[in-house]
Amino acid sequence: MRKKIVAGNWKMNVNLQQTQQLLTDLIEEANTYPSDVKVIVAPSFTNLQTAVQQLENVNIEVAAQHMSEHEKGAYTGEVSADMLKSIGLNYVILGHSERRQYFGETNAKLAQKVSIALANKLTVIFCVGEELENRKNNTHFDIVTQQISEGLFHLSPVELDKIIIAYEPVWAIGTGETASPEQAQEMHAHIRNVIADRYTIGVADSVSILYGGSVKPSNADELFTKPDVDGGLIGGAALKADDFSAIVNARS
Ligand code: PGA
Repeated sequence: MRKKIVAGNWKMNVNLQQTQQLLTDLIEEANTYPSDVKVIVAPSFTNLQTAVQQLENVNIEVAAQHMSEHEKGAYTGEVSADMLKSIGLNYVILGHSERRQYFGETNAKLAQKVSIALANKLTVIFCVGEELENRKNNTHFDIVTQQISEGLFHLSPVELDKIIIAYEPVWAIGTGETASPEQAQEMHAHIRNVIADRYTIGVADSVSILYGGSVKPSNADELFTKPDVDGGLIGGAALKADDFSAIVNARS
């Protein structure tokens, strides 16, 4: 049985005071969250430590939005996996489409980041997803297969167990346009098949695959009730405690 996971990616939207306020609002609602749903929020680097402290003894976990592919050293401005672990983090988002698009994160670079994250005992939320162009010319399955194989297939089955996959079609991120539940289900099933081919059906069945891209309270139920959709990675709607909590509490 895969656990439902709902993660909020706050991107570069929330400063320290706003982080504290949003967390206060979420903590008030956290007692309504079902115990079988894992809830994660991803503030910016400067606010991670505050979040870890504020969420002590609360059923909400904290993730970083990315990290360096280097262990340590002369990489001005970068943040390492060890630094994240040292403030008590257990999760990191890697390969978000905005990182791929604006910051040159290639599949090869992401494969390195994944290994370093796992070596530091961080669970990875690994994002994949096609652009509109790919969907139009029917290469969306190929693109996602490539992202998964080049980013993750160097891992052993035991390591893959520490990966949560987030399927986020780029054309649905922040656009208000959501993939239909059928489109999401179709791609999630495809991802599971690709993993089963490389590993085993058992491994594929145990990997959680989240959907991301304009998830809101009004469409969460129909997405999360699809058999291969194990929850969501939420952007815009994660910035409002009420909306995010409604998504956490959506049917699955
Ligand atoms: P969105 O973002 O929910 O605002 O579309 C999702 C994401 O980028 O993770």
